[in-house]
Amino acid sequence: MNTLLDTLRRSVGENHVLVEGPGRELDAYLQDWRRRWRGRALAVVRPGSTAEVAAVVRACAKAGVSIVPQGGNTGLVGGGVPDASGTQVLLSLQRLHRVRGIDAANLAITAEAGCVLQAVQEAAAGAGLLFPLSLAAEGSCTLGGNLATNAGGTQVLRWGNSRELCLGLEVVTAQGEVWEGLTGLRKDNTGYDLRDLFVGSEGTLGIITAATMKLAPMPAATMTALAACESLAGCVELLNLARARLGSGLTGFEVMGRFALDLVARHFPQLPRPLPSAPWTVLLEHSDTESEQSARGRFETLLGAALEAGTVKDAVVAESLAQSQALWHLRESIPLAQSEEGLNIKHDISLPVSAIPEYVARTDALLTQRFPGARLVNFGHLGDGNLHYNLQCPEGGDAKRFLAEHEHEVNRIVFDALVPFGGSFSAEHGIGALKRDELAARKSPVALALMRKVKAAFDPKGVLNPGRVL
Ligand code: FAD
Ligand code: ZN
Repeated sequence: MNTLLDTLRRSVGENHVLVEGPGRELDAYLQDWRRRWRGRALAVVRPGSTAEVAAVVRACAKAGVSIVPQGGNTGLVGGGVPDASGTQVLLSLQRLHRVRGIDAANLAITAEAGCVLQAVQEAAAGAGLLFPLSLAAEGSCTLGGNLATNAGGTQVLRWGNSRELCLGLEVVTAQGEVWEGLTGLRKDNTGYDLRDLFVGSEGTLGIITAATMKLAPMPAATMTALAACESLAGCVELLNLARARLGSGLTGFEVMGRFALDLVARHFPQLPRPLPSAPWTVLLEHSDTESEQSARGRFETLLGAALEAGTVKDAVVAESLAQSQALWHLRESIPLAQSEEGLNIKHDISLPVSAIPEYVARTDALLTQRFPGARLVNFGHLGDGNLHYNLQCPEGGDAKRFLAEHEHEVNRIVFDALVPFGGSFSAEHGIGALKRDELAARKSPVALALMRKVKAAFDPKGVLNPGRVL
């Protein structure tokens, strides 16, 4: 292995091959964001260019050493940290962080994989344009990680997932070759779509080193509102009313259950809560191409109609950017409040929006019957049919013990209940290590066999992120 380390040092520079040792903490690379997985690595390697990434892959492939690619290490399914063997190389893309160019007339930006999402948004804004991918981890997650996980976030109902925003990719293959697939073309039917195979492959098919992404005109005004509903069916009704009235101006539609917001109030009492507690609270965002006045007018008309129809019981429109941010902050604080409350069982499910009220009613009943006192923390991207349908142990209970004893059964109840509605057990966070067995058990044998053939074709020696996804 010393010869491999020497080759890696020659390829990327002595300072960019890190090995664990006294005084050398590599937790930032080896432990995941949720602190659920902590691995060990033969070395953490930080190449600074596509050519260096390719050299690292060639050296590792030759030595029979597997590679775990990593961006911002904010993934939630344990796909970006090495296993416990200490034999894998952790390849960090963080030094590939250049914005290579913006083609404003073609509404496209080309940036390297290690660019932090927020930096891509800022580069686009600097050119007067919008890069619409947005999620709570945007200050640390990277463009490469977003594409590798096909990340969703809060703007999906208007702009789609990372996949829909991606025009082209540059990828280092498992053989250490470079696929130059960077293109700004919106139409290109020249054979199989390699780009779409790499997007969402979670580091198992190739290493994304750069991407060309779609941009959009910057809206003239963006406005946020909260609305209180008595039922989830009411929230779905509001969604359809908002779609009809605002059309493509509806850029965000998040739902928050009462207990989710109660947890925020308990752990972050300093955060303002502009509406009284309600069974369901919706956060709506409207982006207007005309002006702030027009945005406010359309929002007020929509909410007025919803109040009149009884769909909504109460509503408030943010008066300023600061108030808008405070409303988003409320929504984004739910996962943190949950962590403060203690260990919990997280789900990231999707369903046809029309099926959500019935799914939740049925599954709430199954769970509370089986686990009396269990607390359901339900929130998420309702506009995309995506819920973070989480479960906290009964008040005052031993969360660690509850998880150890019941996590498996809770997952089974939640995932089985999706089947009659055609739902998915992983909407936006991916499979990684966490849901690998679930994929094997729940995906059709035909789909699994095709996936295994794709993996074998791209990475026959299993160099890239083995044991993840499949
Ligand atoms: P990492 O965590 O480093 O890696 C994730 C996976 O991609 C790993 O399997 C890794 O091997 C692989 N990978 C990373 N970079 C590359 C590359 N260049 N080439 C090939 N493979 C690579 N996700 C959503 O979809 N929507 C949300 O709203 C959302 N909100 C979040 C909020 C918080 C607070 C946090 C912590 C996470 C959230 N996530 C969300 C999870 C989401 O998957 C990540 O935030 C993000 O997409 C991962 O980017 P990353 O750079 O951190 O990737
Ligand atoms: Zn989410």
